[in-house]
Amino acid sequence: MPLLAPPSEAPMNWALFLDIDGTLLDLAPKPGDVVVPRTLPPCLETLRRRFGGALALVSGRALAGVDRLFPGGHDAAGSHGVEWRLAGATTVLADPWPDEVTAMVEAEAALLPGILVERKPRSVALHYRNAPEYEPAVKALAEAAIRNAGTPLRLLEGKAVIEIAPPEADKGMAIDRFMRVPPYAGRRPVFAGDDITDEGGFAAVNRLDGLSLHVGRSLATKAHFRLSTPASLRRWLIRLDQAPGGTSDHAHP
Ligand SMILES: [Mg+2]
Repeated sequence: MPLLAPPSEAPMNWALFLDIDGTLLDLAPKPGDVVVPRTLPPCLETLRRRFGGALALVSGRALAGVDRLFPGGHDAAGSHGVEWRLAGATTVLADPWPDEVTAMVEAEAALLPGILVERKPRSVALHYRNAPEYEPAVKALAEAAIRNAGTPLRLLEGKAVIEIAPPEADKGMAIDRFMRVPPYAGRRPVFAGDDITDEGGFAAVNRLDGLSLHVGRSLATKAHFRLSTPASLRRWLIRLDQAPGGTSDHAHP
């Protein structure tokens, strides 16, 4: 079934959840190289007010990394939901990270030229964008690390990245958690994401009769709506931001 273009007007009762990399922002060769367009932060701020404060960033980045890109202490789920912040108060949902897992992964990855190891407070990510031939080796390495860890961990696959994370790293759970509390509770959740790790978020908003919006061209998605690029998502957000407050809730394919 072809995916629909999202509605061009937003009812006031939406709660907006936005992934960052590959969704709000164009991907870069390295996570540190992404660029936040100048017009984006004010647009998000207007939308946040429009939706009664119900706007959260939902990212695989650690919360500190989210804040470097979008300062201001936004409501956010960082580290795929392990770090969860509402109205400035952060809850960490996982046990302390086993540093020996990161050490083992770093030692093994050092043998694979071009593999970038990203240490996060509660996970470790292996980026193979610059050495795609090592994808199988990176996956095998991550699976071995999970088997050998003394604590339950899960493997998250994304675009040119494999991440080892706690079981609580789940964007769907993070969105569900927001939807149980004000100002989110009772609103209609809208989640935009681009990657495999966003599928849990799409499933969560579909269950809540929300709008699931895939950014990109993947055929294997649970999302119901689609925009092809981060730039088209940004244009859509700016249009919502400028539209008069509508109350209808019909899709315009
Ligand atoms: Mg993404």
